[in-house]
Amino acid sequence: MEGAKALDQQQFRDKLGNVDKKGKRLWIFPKKPKGDFYNYRTWFSWFLMGLMFSGPFLKLNGKPLLLLNVLERKFIIFGMVFWPQDLNLFALLMLTFVLFIILFTVVFGRVWCGWACPQTIFMEMLFRKVEYLIEGDANQQKKLQEAEYNFEKIWKKGLKHGIFWLLSFFIANIFLAYIISFDQLWLMVEDGPAAHLGKFMSLALFTTVFYFVFARLRELVCIFICPYGRLQGLMLDKNSIVVAYDFVRGEPRGKVDKTDTSRKGDCIDCKLCVNVCPTGIDIRNGTQIECLNCTACIDACDEVMVKINKPKGLVRFASLNGITLGNKFSFNPRNIAYSVVLTGLFSVFLFALITRKDIETTLLRTPGMLYQKTDDGKISNLYNIEFVNKTFKELPIQLKLVEPKGDIKLVEGTDILVEQESVGKASFFIVRDANDITKISTPVKVDVYSNGVLIESVKSKFNGPIFVTK
Ligand code: SF4
Ligand code: SF4
Repeated sequence: MEGAKALDQQQFRDKLGNVDKKGKRLWIFPKKPKGDFYNYRTWFSWFLMGLMFSGPFLKLNGKPLLLLNVLERKFIIFGMVFWPQDLNLFALLMLTFVLFIILFTVVFGRVWCGWACPQTIFMEMLFRKVEYLIEGDANQQKKLQEAEYNFEKIWKKGLKHGIFWLLSFFIANIFLAYIISFDQLWLMVEDGPAAHLGKFMSLALFTTVFYFVFARLRELVCIFICPYGRLQGLMLDKNSIVVAYDFVRGEPRGKVDKTDTSRKGDCIDCKLCVNVCPTGIDIRNGTQIECLNCTACIDACDEVMVKINKPKGLVRFASLNGITLGNKFSFNPRNIAYSVVLTGLFSVFLFALITRKDIETTLLRTPGMLYQKTDDGKISNLYNIEFVNKTFKELPIQLKLVEPKGDIKLVEGTDILVEQESVGKASFFIVRDANDITKISTPVKVDVYSNGVLIESVKSKFNGPIFVTK
């Protein structure tokens, strides 16, 4: 703790790593990372990108595996169609997801950001790699940036930004395919932009946004724009496992000096951990809002430790209590409470998903109408019924009046057929013998069947004439 106090008073930063004293943005040129963690991250990123890019092409029963059509408010997740009527399921899913993220962050810090977030994956594993390939490592990039415009600078910058636009265009296409489906996107390609102007404009907009995010905004997205990044300070505690500098072991830091016998810390102040950081921070200042847990500084420091014959792990995954008190990781009451609530929510979500009906029915008495008298002296009420078919097949519907005593007569035709993934509507009369009516308003219960299987029961009211009494 002595080291920590000294660090707090003398070293702790009071400004952003990517902003100068005048508030102007400092462009970050992170050194190309290398090491075990970077290799694991690269493999994992290729796996995730493979999933992401193949997603729109994967189909189940001829339908996309994942479709997030916010325009038509239709969502297909793992072959199941979700409609606005499934809002309760979505709300539960969102709550469960948010709680999962909170719990995960409380325990493991911001691992999502460094390892699975599309922003980091595309930035570090696609755009940054292209940059290293064309412009070289950090120092060469810096030199090129500062150089006057000459042939080399023009072709390198031109090529890099050209590839950035192409990558952005490709990602925008994938993004759009998740919204409108790959088939629709292909139709757009076949028919040409003029026939699908709205979609083409969306594609141009997505491409531009992605280009600016990856070519210009970069770490600003993680530091200032992403709400999850802004909130992480509220979620972490002293037991959260994050990428951390072991200041107990590392301080007091200092350059290697064989004549100085006073220095005991392992940190040789080489600043390699700072040079590789994509958000421009010094992990030795402690856990900071900009840290993505990308582990580039772990790799950099491990390499240094190997070179100076010290054990690896001066920068490693550890909690503050792990470093200061030597505590091993354990679940604290807060983590246990989150886990219990998360398990409960997930169980409710699963139950709601399993018991979800294939058809959602809404029954309403036709507004503005009381009752009608038929030619044979019976009393009828007119109803509107609406079905949301959430399946991929056409469904025949049969209605059965459970209560009160009476008959159902469709206004048009004799059968109700609801097309796949669509909303079907019908109108029908409930016709009752005048003698059976004892009240002005009687509860109505109608069972909805499809292919002989009871799907659900819907309720309404039947209005009768006031003068009819028994
Ligand atoms: S401090 Fe380390 S883990 Fe955090 S963003 Fe920088 S390089 Fe990545
Ligand atoms: S890389 Fe390791 S040794 Fe070098 S400054 Fe960072 S923490 Fe210290």
